[in-house]
Amino acid sequence: MINKISSVPGCADPFDPASISLTEALDKIGQRVRPVLACERLPIRDCLGRVNNEAVKSPHDVPPLPNSAMDGYAIAVASLERDAITELDDIGTAYAGAPFDGSCGPGQCVRIMTGALIPQGTDAVIMQEQVEQGAPGKIRVDAEHRVGENIRQAGEDVQQGDTVIEAGARLSPADLGVLASLGLGQLQVKRKPVVAFFSTGDELVSVGEPLEPGKIYDSNRYSLHGMLSGMAVDIVDLGVVRDDLDSMREVLTRASTKADLIISTGGVSVGEADFIKPALEELGTTEFWKIAIKPGRPLTFGQIDASIFMGLPGNPVAVMVTFSQFVVPAIHALAGANPQPPALFRARALDKMRKKPGRYEFQRGIASMDENNEWQVARTGQQGSGILTSMSRANCFIVLPDDNTGVEPGDQVSIQFFDWSR
Ligand code: AMP
Ligand code: MG
Repeated sequence: MINKISSVPGCADPFDPASISLTEALDKIGQRVRPVLACERLPIRDCLGRVNNEAVKSPHDVPPLPNSAMDGYAIAVASLERDAITELDDIGTAYAGAPFDGSCGPGQCVRIMTGALIPQGTDAVIMQEQVEQGAPGKIRVDAEHRVGENIRQAGEDVQQGDTVIEAGARLSPADLGVLASLGLGQLQVKRKPVVAFFSTGDELVSVGEPLEPGKIYDSNRYSLHGMLSGMAVDIVDLGVVRDDLDSMREVLTRASTKADLIISTGGVSVGEADFIKPALEELGTTEFWKIAIKPGRPLTFGQIDASIFMGLPGNPVAVMVTFSQFVVPAIHALAGANPQPPALFRARALDKMRKKPGRYEFQRGIASMDENNEWQVARTGQQGSGILTSMSRANCFIVLPDDNTGVEPGDQVSIQFFDWSR
């Protein structure tokens, strides 16, 4: 007699043979996503976080001419007597922006300020702290100085023709400074990808509406909005979509006319109210993935016309995990940015963590420095995929790879700091 119901592998089963690995999922995303082609030329201040279109080569040396790295005296090292104190005539001053326009001869020196051009006839700058005042108009220096001392050479930062910013680089504040140092006021960058998103679920109400029994507030649209706001994308919030086929069809059609990437949350499992799958099958091409990660196992990936579609799970923590692992790289690829693998750090675990092999797990952690300046990490309490405060209290994911079989306090683990701005 059969007295047991055999289950198809569910979310809790890590050994589901139909699951694909995190790396496979990333490969598939990489193969499918095509970068936006259009570009725009913008003032460099507006280029922060944007993707550079063509390698920028320097039109000249930076600095353009040798200048002083210190306040002091420009001298010719050949003027210094060996193993003795030399007295030099102070013949003038070189200021940053107002060069000394004479030439400095043997036995002479020029008072010089940081950033001032190195006067003709000199080859070293002696810091003013290493100089004694001699008779009026004279200084005294010892012999301990070498050619090139305290001089910033022409081209020491950038040489003419050097590539200073690669194609596909995301522009950082330092890049904007480098562009300005080259005298470049504008740059050609890729256009921003347009990202549309919506939540699905009949149980969802938006903030500001009363909460009736059986309803919950929609949090995913807010965490998604927060994560997207840190990225150089144009955001379209399509609201909450009811669990029925018509609404799903309608929102997907509308989204595909305006977005490069459409993100939904919820409705991707095998529940009776999960309509993402049938709607997508009608409108585009789809792949339904069970990914061997926790949380965030079910994920839908597909395309409607030219738009990429990513259907994230409904559970709020799973949304943030799948966003960080799959949506971020997809947005980079769409934006035409060079891949940026996540930065992982080693940290000493403070807590015991149970873990089954065969899947990646992303626990939420609080990392801090210990007394030896090494990273240590504690878990943020309960780790259920609906416990969103486990994310808000955390500053990192504790990344436990496929083969990890559990963690004891004191073990080394990998951590990935939250960074929603890349
Ligand atoms: P689903 O994948 O639609 O079955 O959703 C899985 C779980 O996540 C359910 O408990 C939902 O109520 C919850 N959930 C789905 N969408 C949201 C949302 N936008 N905000 C908060 N919880 C959600
Ligand atoms: Mg649902």
